[in-house]
Amino acid sequence: MTGRAADGTAVPPAAAAPSRAEGVALGEPTAPGSAVYTVVLKSDDTGHSWSGTEKIAFTNPGKAAITEFWIRLWGNGDAGCGGVPPERMTDLVGGRIAETTQNCTAYRIELDTPLASGAQGEVSFTLAIDVPVRRDRFGVNGVDTYLGNALAVLAVKDENGWELPPYVDFGESYYSLTADYDVTLDHPAALQVPSSGTVAGETPTGDRVSTHIVANKVRDFSWSAGAYHHDTVVTAAGVTVDAYWPNSESDSNCRELMRYAASALDSYGERFGAYPYPRFTIVFDEFGSAFDGMEYPNYVLASAYRGAVAHEVAHQWWFGLVGDDQYRHPWLDEAFAEYSAEQFEGGGSPAHGCDWVAADERMDVSMDVFEKAGDPLYHDAVYHEGTCMLYDLERTIGRTAMDQLLRGLVSQYEYGVVRPADVRALAASVSGQDLTAFWQRWRNTAG
Ligand SMILES: [Zn+2]
Repeated sequence: MTGRAADGTAVPPAAAAPSRAEGVALGEPTAPGSAVYTVVLKSDDTGHSWSGTEKIAFTNPGKAAITEFWIRLWGNGDAGCGGVPPERMTDLVGGRIAETTQNCTAYRIELDTPLASGAQGEVSFTLAIDVPVRRDRFGVNGVDTYLGNALAVLAVKDENGWELPPYVDFGESYYSLTADYDVTLDHPAALQVPSSGTVAGETPTGDRVSTHIVANKVRDFSWSAGAYHHDTVVTAAGVTVDAYWPNSESDSNCRELMRYAASALDSYGERFGAYPYPRFTIVFDEFGSAFDGMEYPNYVLASAYRGAVAHEVAHQWWFGLVGDDQYRHPWLDEAFAEYSAEQFEGGGSPAHGCDWVAADERMDVSMDVFEKAGDPLYHDAVYHEGTCMLYDLERTIGRTAMDQLLRGLVSQYEYGVVRPADVRALAASVSGQDLTAFWQRWRNTAG
C-alpha cells in the first residue's frame, strides 16, 4: 500500500501444496492446500453489484483428516454484520457455515464429509457483492468500481493456528497462500475489467461481454470495472503492461507512467529475479485520503505519480511473490517495497528522516499495535524507519551481499511465505556477519 499519512496462462498451475518455504517450521499444514478457485460472476448495468458462484477446490496436504476450515470475506471489513453486509455467501454445497466472526469477514466452514489425508474436496456457494460508494480499494469511486479482496479466500493455518486477523483500513490484514484462479466476469460491454491474471477470452453477447480470466500461482485475485481509457506496452523483458485510467486523469501523464511501470518491472526483475507472469495491470485513479496505491497480484491501483507507481510495482515481489503475514509483520513487505522503490527512483539515501517519532515506537509489531497507535506511527515505523533500516543494512553488509539477500529471498520464498527470522538468517548468511546488534538498533527483533 502507499499511504497518504503523513494469466497467467504462461504460468503453470500450482501442482503441489501451496509453496511453503523450505526450512520454515510452519508446523503441520492442516489447512486446505493446492487451492483452485473457479468463479463466475455477473454484474448489474453499473458494475457496482455482482453475483454468481464461487467454487474452491483443494486437497488435504496434512496427515489428519480436515473437518473444517475458515474463509475470509474482506469486503465486509468496514461495514461489518449490521444490516445487509456488502458481501454474502449463501447456498453452500459441500459444507455449512458453522461460525462467523471478525465483523463478518471470517466464516468457519464445517465440511459435510471429512477430507482424508491427501484427498481432494471442494465447496461451492453463491456469492453476492454490493460494493459500497466510497473512495476505497473496495468501493465505488465516482463511476468506477474497485473490487479489491472481494472474492472469498481460504484463511491460513500456520504455526500460530488459524490466522483470523480483523480488517484494518489504513494497512493490510491479508494473508493468503498462492492458488490458481479461473474467473469469468459477465459485464456491460461499455465497462472494462482490469484485473489480476491474463484474459483468456472475451465473448460478446448483445451489449454485454463475458471476460474469462486466468491467474495462476497468485495469492489473491482482484479487479475493477469502469469505462477506462486503456493503453498497453510490452517491456523489454516481454511482460505486457496494461494501463487503465478514468476520464479524470491526464492521458499523457498516464501513458508516461505506464512506461515508467514497465521500466520498474524490468529493473526489479533484473535485481530480484524476473517477474514470472505474462501480464501486469495498473489502474491510475485518485482515491483521496484513503490511499495513494494498493497492491494485488499482477494488478495494482496507483495515484498518477511516479512514487506510487514505483512502490506498488515493487510489491509484485514483496508480498506478491514473497508472501508474508501482513497483519503480524507489516514491515516485511512495506519496508522492502519502499526501499526498492526509492532506489529505483535514484535515491542514494532514504527520502525521509530516520529519527523515531516515539520513544516506545517499534518496527516489529503487528497491525493491532499500530491500530491503537494510529496511522502516523504505523507509517513512520514501517515505511520510513523500515526503509532507513534497509539502507543501513545495505551499508552494513555491502551492496553485493544486499543483492544476494534480495535475490535469495525471492528464489527461496517465491510463491511462499517468509518470516522475519528468515530474513535475519539469510542476511547473516550472505554477509557472514553477526547482525544481532543491527536488528536490535532498528527495534526489529520479534519473530
Ligand atoms: Zn505498500
